[in-house]
Amino acid sequence: MSRSPCLRWVLRLMDRLKPTAALRRVQVVVGVLRRVTPESLSFAYEALTRDTLAAGSLLDIKVEPFTVLCRDCGWQGQIDDAVPLCAGCGAGKLQTLKGMELFLAGLEVEDNETAEK
Ligand SMILES: [Zn+2]
Repeated sequence: MSRSPCLRWVLRLMDRLKPTAALRRVQVVVGVLRRVTPESLSFAYEALTRDTLAAGSLLDIKVEPFTVLCRDCGWQGQIDDAVPLCAGCGAGKLQTLKGMELFLAGLEVEDNETAEK
């Protein structure tokens, strides 16, 4: 299992949550620039929780696309992070608006009580 910063973050998160048997779903938001696939994160989560009270709970991952603001023309939108150029004017002076997220968005427990962020 790879030990990316994201996986270490999930480890710390699970440690802080002190999961109970009622835990059904953990919702996280991960920016695309974190370079982690939902598949690998889910796989790691399953392995981490296997022998814990959180076993069987789901890691629900929302991937936030790379969204930028062009400092030259003011264009704002999603671009491919492999080609960090403004889609409006082609300049490279971009401000990252989204794509670096890594946070807990919510928890779902057995009795349908959902704790939103
Ligand atoms: Zn531009």
